Amino acid sequence: MKKVVKFGGSSLASAEQFMKVGKIIQADEARRYVVPSAPGKRNSADTKVTDMLYATYALAKDGKDFSKDMAFIKARYQEIINGLKLDLSLEKEFDEIAVNFKKKAGENYAASRGEYLNGIIMANYLGYEFIDAATVIFFDEDGNFMAEKTNDVLSEKLKKIEKAVIPGFYGALPDGTVKTFSRGGSDVTGSIVARAAKVDVYENWTDVSGFMVCDPRIVDDPQAIDIITYKELRELSYMGASVLHEDAIFPVRKEGIPINIKNTNAPEDSGTWIVENTCQKSKYVITGIAGKKGFCAVGIDKDMMNSEIGFCRKALQVFEDYNISIEHMPSGIDTMTVFVHQSEFEQKEQEVLAGLHKELQPDMIELESDLALIAVVGRGMKATRGTAGRIFSALAHANINVKMIDQGSSELNIIIGVKNEDFEAAIKAIYAIFVEVQL
Ligand code: ASP
Repeated sequence: MKKVVKFGGSSLASAEQFMKVGKIIQADEARRYVVPSAPGKRNSADTKVTDMLYATYALAKDGKDFSKDMAFIKARYQEIINGLKLDLSLEKEFDEIAVNFKKKAGENYAASRGEYLNGIIMANYLGYEFIDAATVIFFDEDGNFMAEKTNDVLSEKLKKIEKAVIPGFYGALPDGTVKTFSRGGSDVTGSIVARAAKVDVYENWTDVSGFMVCDPRIVDDPQAIDIITYKELRELSYMGASVLHEDAIFPVRKEGIPINIKNTNAPEDSGTWIVENTCQKSKYVITGIAGKKGFCAVGIDKDMMNSEIGFCRKALQVFEDYNISIEHMPSGIDTMTVFVHQSEFEQKEQEVLAGLHKELQPDMIELESDLALIAVVGRGMKATRGTAGRIFSALAHANINVKMIDQGSSELNIIIGVKNEDFEAAIKAIYAIFVEVQL
């Protein structure tokens, strides 16, 4: 049995947290490859080291004195080193970083040092080998992640190393310059390492015991999700779930490796399992509910639209020409509605409308803004009758007007459009009918 364990910033924010992590790793021989984030917040008023690095680099870039800010960052690491009683000095590394900041080595380099330094501490603490991610994770000239090259090099390297620490969040461009993933990208590194090492499980340790059925800011103390498929998670994450970076599922999914989200502060909790497939039923008919506010519906009407070949293509081309992504597209016989992100659409609204008129000669175009989309997701829906009925009667009882309904033939999710102001009440009502009143 082999595992990759990735620890998020809050799991490594202080020496105390490092000790919890050390215990977790030592408790299981299989935890052979460790991917750390940079130290995160120790409390809600604290600042993440990554943010400190961005701010410090901004001073360096402007040619200002950044020594005080760098000293604060150094102090954060020194506190961890002292707390762990390590015989380790990062003096040389900090001197080098200061030189590179003066040379304006770039934001990516600056931000990546958070993980780099934490990786050195972690390797020293555990007695594991340190592998600089810049030597094994590759991006092309355009900054695209090179999955296959990385996998070839990294898997060869890991074959020869029993136990290693590989810092998260960054890799290198062809000329050796450091490049980071987007924020939260250590999750992606963990997944890449898990694929390359062909492990049995990718454990992703954070400060919550996995995914909740819905956002705890909307429903108090919602139920946890024990097991969720990659497909279900895609439907939910793209609507705003924040526990795991969206791109983290792709490398492990290729190899059929499950992800287990675990809580560093409650390691005995089983957390959430993310799997390719399962015959285990979810506790409730639905697995999760997620959504987002701020959409706009562009309704296009034209008599005989259904028999006009190429109508949809022409309509979509206009949105593509203006670089606007489309969220959903429910249609009727003589109507189609295109849901777009309001913030993207607003600035280009008049050009898009003119383009649609020119290409389609519609009878009418109607706009409705301030809409929210809610995805109700669950593999259990396929086998259950009445799911949609329950959702809509719950919404009707809560006095919520449903503006749009979209269900794909996969029967994995139902998308509902409501007014922004009904968003929270709609999620509460759907949660209540499936989870609280388990009929
Ligand atoms: N430290 C980086 C961030 O704050 C990456 C990560 O934590 O995954 O976004």
